[in-house]
This record gives sequence, structure tokens and C-alpha cells, in this order.
Amino acid sequence: MPSARFFGGGDQANYVRYLKGTPVNTLLDGHVRAGKPIGGTSAGLAILGAYSYGAMDGGSLLSADAMPNPLGPGVTLVRDFLHMPFLTEVITDSHFGIRERWGRLIIFVGRLATEEKNAGITGIGIDEKAALCVEADGRGRVYSIGRGFAWLVRPMRAPDAVEARPFNFRNVPVVGIGEEGAIDLKTFAVTRPAFALRVNIVNGAFDEASLAALKAAAATPAGAASGVKGGWALAIHGGAGVIERGDLTPAKEAAYRAGLNAALAAGREVLAKGGSSLDAVEATIRVLEDDPLFNAGRGAVFTAEGRNELDASIMDGATLKAGAVAGVTRTRNPISLARAVMEKSPHVMLARDGADQFSVEQGLPQVSPDYFRTEERWQQLLDWRRDHAAELDRTHSRGTVGAVAVDVNGHVAAGTSTGGMTGKRWGRIGDSPVIGAGTYAADGTCAVSATGSGEYFIRTSAARQVCDRIAWHGEAVQSAASATIANIGEIGGDGGVIAMDGTGHIAFAMNSSGMYRGWVTSSVPAATAIYSNEPGP
Ligand code: ASP
Repeated sequence: MPSARFFGGGDQANYVRYLKGTPVNTLLDGHVRAGKPIGGTSAGLAILGAYSYGAMDGGSLLSADAMPNPLGPGVTLVRDFLHMPFLTEVITDSHFGIRERWGRLIIFVGRLATEEKNAGITGIGIDEKAALCVEADGRGRVYSIGRGFAWLVRPMRAPDAVEARPFNFRNVPVVGIGEEGAIDLKTFAVTRPAFALRVNIVNGAFDEASLAALKAAAATPAGAASGVKGGWALAIHGGAGVIERGDLTPAKEAAYRAGLNAALAAGREVLAKGGSSLDAVEATIRVLEDDPLFNAGRGAVFTAEGRNELDASIMDGATLKAGAVAGVTRTRNPISLARAVMEKSPHVMLARDGADQFSVEQGLPQVSPDYFRTEERWQQLLDWRRDHAAELDRTHSRGTVGAVAVDVNGHVAAGTSTGGMTGKRWGRIGDSPVIGAGTYAADGTCAVSATGSGEYFIRTSAARQVCDRIAWHGEAVQSAASATIANIGEIGGDGGVIAMDGTGHIAFAMNSSGMYRGWVTSSVPAATAIYSNEPGP
């Protein structure tokens, strides 16, 4: 039975003064190297990381004093005291939410990242009623009596200017790990985060929205990452547009619903087996690309010159990695090419001939350009040529496809694929392959795929806007999606979005008369809808 060492609370300055660099320090390092347990609370927790706040001036620094001046005399940082595995880039802090230490930890991280020239410096704050227990292999779980989290601050960059006054540090990610979640301290990957925020220090203080978001996060009920309670969820769309009841024959409507159901089944197959949201999004979209009814892959609309030029994108909410292709002409499944760009190239977006060439190099299935052609889409082009040669065709644009999903590990992903709009020309690229416009995903916040008059979705950063409304303003996913569509409507755009928050709540919003859509979750059976007034999940 290995003996354990545990540091109690008090004044960490005493630990630093009386132990650092002494034979006891050597003994403690040896204890840890031998794989024996060690822990601490309060001041004893504050000294566990490779970096610590030493409170060397006798004070207990307040966030409000640290934030205006990271280089101030109260920010007493200590290095080279204890040497724990997994904490070599970490500074820990305690009594976290209750004493509002969010600001000071971000300051510690920002200053250390600058001074150490190490963007990987990471802060971990532990709430008063919580403990983070780390196994020998780096897997960490949070245990809490009541409501408590471990707060991860890992910006992966230093502030622009730590010496600047007033001090600013914007867009700092803060991720909460509750009892339902886990963190791998080898990689700092968090599964099933309780919340994920981006906060701003502006002029030496949190801006109002950041402070509100932090307070709301601190009040997150324990286990809140469980919108799908250990489960998964998938939502899809097959394009928005003018789709009135009576426009579709019963046979055509049944065919659309069957197409949506086949796509849901493909995604369900992945998610129900514990597969990733990324795999589910790709599998779902491939089915819709192969279905000639939808304007993506086979069945894509035609450009003014009578070609099919395909756009697609995919984003992984766990890593914020993304891949996109625009104007490709020979890849059978553009969504898989977008994924290859994300995973196999150093880039996010490839276009036209270069993207076609990359696809061949990656060995993705190639088809002749006629593979994408359907007679119905060709007729739509001829109609467009007769009637609206001066503008993009809005009425026939529908049929873009997209999917958003959360998996059993709480990771979200989103993807979108399209032929664009009938009559597009001059190499026009719409919103679908533009990350932040047609597609966006961020763990703990949301995943979005859009469809509609792409120019307007680009101008409003539609997909990212939905996510930011949730992350920065704490809006519920449905109101974030609806407000974004209202925004698009105000400048003359039309279409819809599907969105899912980090806990699997699904939202559909549209300002057109219809959007082909569907959903399935670990607890709700597959369902589809077409007209705007049909009920949702
Ligand atoms: N958003 C797509 C584009 O503008 C078209 C659509 O969704 O219908 O290319």
C-alpha cells in the first residue's frame, strides 16, 4: 500500500518558504516519482502545479486587483517547487467559483505564457466543493459534494501584450468539468464538459457578458452536461426554401422523407454504437449526397455554364479543427473530401482544381462530372436561363444538406454539403464551405449547419453567430438560432439553420416556408418534418 501525502490549507507562502529547495522538497519529488499518491486542499492545492501562486506578499490576491495589472506586485508566481507528472505546464488554484478567482487564474496563465514563452501554460481551478482526482495514467475525474467543478483555462496563446495598460485578454476559453465529465491530463481533452465559455478581459476587467457567463456557469446544476444523459443526438437538414403544402406530390414528399430517414439511420448506426459525432455527421451527409433528390453530391444544381461545382465543410467541436472544399467537380462525396482536408492537409479550405487534385491524391472515389447530373436539376437551369438569368435562383436553391450531432462522449460536430445555387457563376462560393457561416461546432457550446441564400449567411457569420449567442450571452439554442435567422431576414436573406447545444438540445429555425429536416436521439425515435409549422422534437 503506497503511502500518501496530503497538504492542508493555510498560507502557501509558508510551504514555499520552508519547503522549496529543502531536503523535504527532494523527498516529496521522490515520493511522486515513485508513483505514490499526493494531494492538497486550499493552499496545499495551490502549490501542486509546476507553477504556483505563492501569495508571497502575505496577501490573497483578488481577481479585481490582478486583472488590471498582471505584472503587479501582488502577482507572486513561484516556479520549480514540486514536480508532478501531468502538471509540468499547470498552475492550480482553489476555492475557485466561490471566491471569484476566474480573473486571477487567467492572469496567472497569461503572465506565465508570456514569461515562459509557452502557449501551453494551463490553469486548473478547483471549486470549494469539488476534488479533481488524477489516476496514474493521467485520467482525471471530478468528485463533488453539491455543485462544484474543475475549471480549465487553456488559451494556447499568450495575451497580446502582458505589459499593456489597460490590460486586455480576449476570447479566453474556460471549460468546466463536472462529475459527468472527465479530463485527460496528458492532452487536456475534456469529455462531456459541464460548460464551455469564451471570456474577455477588457480594460483590466471582465466585460459584462463574460462575468454573467462565468456566474451562470458557476451556477450550472451538477450533471448539467446531461441533456442527452450519457446519450447522443443527431439533427439533419436537406435544404430550406419555398416549400408549400401542396407543392410536393404525396409520392415526392414520401421520397424526401425516406431520404431523410435513410440519412438518420446511417448516423444513428454510428452514434448508438458509441461512435463519434464526426463520423456520424460524415456518414449522414454521404447518404444525402448520394440521394439525387438533394442538392449535394448527385443531384446538385447547375452553374450558369451548366456545370456542377460542389462545396462542403465539416468541423470537429472537440478540437475546433475544420475542413472545407469549394467548387469541386469529381469527388463523389465532397463531405469526405472536406474531412480529408481537415485531417490530412495543413489547411482548412481547398478550392477548385487544387481540391480536385488533392482528392485524387487522397485516393477518394472519383466520378465523371455527369454522375452529379439529374434531369430535374437540368430543367431548373433551363428555367433559370429563361427567367432570371441576372440573379441566383432562390426558389430552386433548396436541397443543400447538413448534419449536427453530439456523441456519448459529449463531443459535437457539424457538416454541410451543397451544389450551391442554380445559376451561380464566376466561381461563386456560398456559405456552405465557409466555417463560421454555413458550419460551426464547438464542444460545450453548439454545432450548426445552415442552408439558404448563402451570401447573407456569410455576411452575418450565421453559424458562428448562433454559437456565440450561446457562449457569450447564455442564450438558449432555439432563441440563438431564431435570432440569427431574424438577423439574416433583416438584411434580405432567407433560409434556415439546424443547431444543437453542447448538451444535445436540438433547434430548427427558418424564415422560408419549409426546410427538409429530421432528428433522432438516444431517447427520441427518428422523425422528419418539411413545412415550417410542423412540430419539432
Ligand atoms: N447555402 C447554399 C449556398 O448558398 C445554398 C442552399 O443552402 O440552398 O450555396
